[in-house]
Amino acid sequence: MQARERSTEQAGLAAHAHGVLRIDLQSLKENWRRLAKRVAPAECGAAVKANAYGLGIEPCARALWEAGCKTFFVALPQEGGDLRTLLPEATIYVLSGLLPGSAPLYLASRLIPSLSSPEEIEEWAVATRARGGRPGAALHVDTGMNRLGLSREQVQALQSSPALKSIEVGLVMTHLACADDPSSPMNTRQLGAFMALRARLPNAAASIANSAGIFLGREFHCDLVRPGIALYGGNPFLEGENPMSPVVELTATLLQVRHIAEGETVGYGATWRAERPSRIGVVSSGYHDGLRRSLAGGPALAYIGGLKAPIVGRISMDLLTIDLTDVPPELARRGTAVELMGAHITVDDVARWAGTIPYEILTGLGSRHARLYSPADSSR
Ligand SMILES: *Cc1c(COP(=O)(O)O)cnc(C)c1O
Repeated sequence: MQARERSTEQAGLAAHAHGVLRIDLQSLKENWRRLAKRVAPAECGAAVKANAYGLGIEPCARALWEAGCKTFFVALPQEGGDLRTLLPEATIYVLSGLLPGSAPLYLASRLIPSLSSPEEIEEWAVATRARGGRPGAALHVDTGMNRLGLSREQVQALQSSPALKSIEVGLVMTHLACADDPSSPMNTRQLGAFMALRARLPNAAASIANSAGIFLGREFHCDLVRPGIALYGGNPFLEGENPMSPVVELTATLLQVRHIAEGETVGYGATWRAERPSRIGVVSSGYHDGLRRSLAGGPALAYIGGLKAPIVGRISMDLLTIDLTDVPPELARRGTAVELMGAHITVDDVARWAGTIPYEILTGLGSRHARLYSPADSSR
């Protein structure tokens, strides 16, 4: 479809949408290129699990591929199958490992499981024995996270395992528990543990770093890095400057403006009381759309016409309310777009206001938004 027609279609969609999510694929590509440059000669992959952190795996993975990314990480084989259809030549790792009984799915879509238990290794060995070409696998070793991954004892025991000898290990990886805090001693402890375990395993490429891990230093880059959140513009660190460019803008529509008297309350639970005659804007976005209830009662803001409008009262499923008293009436009319993330509000701000992390905000943005991509995703 022509880019122009496509953007007209996009505009039409936006007009009827509850909220509009604008995803800047150019910034996504720039973020990937910046990280790729930083880690070279190590390879830079991309975590696109959970529908590319809620932003849409198809356009995002395609843009990343165009930027030069060849290696992708998904959580589940289903996600990997979808991605395979989109990118026939990509290398695709499944981070949740080999799901029981699902090896045929991996083989059919040429997915590489990240094996993290002796049972998974055994099952993969049996499933691949019958196949020629020795399909690749990754080994995930645990170095202190205690989530997925082979323990030190299991790695030790595996040295004499026929199953391990019969599979093709292309990558050995671990995952950092505290990379978002560069001062944590856990980081170098895990690096040391990883190097020791790696020496006991088949000779293969190595991978440690997620987004934050990339910024911990060269020794964390190894052969391949696995950034996710940084690509999508979230701050990989708990504190301090965000080194990445924003990718997401979220706007909703002002549905109604109402005038209330001093002393009146707004919303469920009557939690917010007007201390002066006020103008309240009702906005077409709520917790179903990822505007979490925990945003209420704190410093959370929206912007309208570039001016601040505090979020007041509880957040409902489909609606939220903002205080427009200090915004000139001509800037805040029925139908006006309200910025919930964008030029003035980062995903990190929203996460902080809601008491969570940008990952949870992005992946929680809900299915109801029109997702508009710029430049328009014209290849569909
Ligand atoms: C999600 C994930 C990543 C990406 O993490 P970010 O913090 O988003 O960069 C990397 N590795 C593993 C194992 C993951 O689960």
